[in-house]
Amino acid sequence: MSDGSAKQAVTLIGLGPMGRAMGKALLAAGHPVTVWGRTRSRADGLVREGAVFAASAAEAVAASEAVLLSLTDYQAMYDVLKDVPSLEGKAVVNLSSGTPAEAREGAAWAAGRGGRFLSGGVMSPPPGIGSAEVSTFYSGDEEVADRLRGVLEVLTAVDYRGADPGLSQAYYQVQLGLFWTTMTGFLHALALSEAEGIPVETITPYLIGANDMAAFFEGTARQVREGDFAGDEDRMAMGAASIEHVVHTSRDAGVDADLPAAVSAIFRRGLGAGLQDESFAALITLMRPARG
Ligand code: NDP
Repeated sequence: MSDGSAKQAVTLIGLGPMGRAMGKALLAAGHPVTVWGRTRSRADGLVREGAVFAASAAEAVAASEAVLLSLTDYQAMYDVLKDVPSLEGKAVVNLSSGTPAEAREGAAWAAGRGGRFLSGGVMSPPPGIGSAEVSTFYSGDEEVADRLRGVLEVLTAVDYRGADPGLSQAYYQVQLGLFWTTMTGFLHALALSEAEGIPVETITPYLIGANDMAAFFEGTARQVREGDFAGDEDRMAMGAASIEHVVHTSRDAGVDADLPAAVSAIFRRGLGAGLQDESFAALITLMRPARG
């Protein structure tokens, strides 16, 4: 037995793959853990390892000051907590994905019920939980972040970004936008490769090693920072032609071309805006919010 009595009690609501990984890590670190989830059977493993399954969300909330939520989205927080009479004295840490606006609304909603609120965006799949090598963006009530640091650091490293509860989700969604578009591009590359008779295992090392993406990111970020879009090395007209070749190669091979076609449409808007001699990075001028 670990010295559970010395460790802060934690309530964990939401027992998908992420919630279960968090529960496991908290139990392994010796925290008394109360869990609740809509689907009781998902708690079985954690209960076997020592977690207590509460009879209701309200009982789960009553069990600990620290209430961690790992739910599909922010709506689920309301669904789960709406019948909890009060959040007085509770530190609600919502580790579910949502928009910055949803996190701000969630914080205000929790405050209206007497609760303190921290939002979090977890930058790791479940197997990374329990490692300090991955981190979570947090924002909101700083005192909660400090008081629960011992609990939160069991899950991942803590990256507190500021008092605005929307900030964690802003950092998170920015990262996830890059992640999903990149991963979808990767899947398209594999489908095209297969269709051209190149096995996945043959192409994968090329895809991993072909481009130094860190260098591309740094170079592009510098151009954006400095507002310098001189097309000395890459002209928009070249990029537009290049992605069009990917569209045609995909269609010729019978592979879904929606993704490169969407990218091509952005390049064409760049050409339409007269950016043909600027660099690729000038496309950001089409992506920024319109100034009123
Ligand atoms: P899941 O969607 O698989 O599970 C989340 C839990 O939310 C489930 O236990 C589900 O209950 C519960 N839930 C959803 N809607 C409701 C509702 N209306 N009322 C009650 N309970 C509800 O997500 P994950 O566990 O994979 O992830 C949790 C959060 O972490 C998500 O916001 C996700 O974006 C984020 N995340 C996930 C990562 C991953 O790789 N999995 C990586 C980084 C972040 P039930 O079991 O009954 O379906």
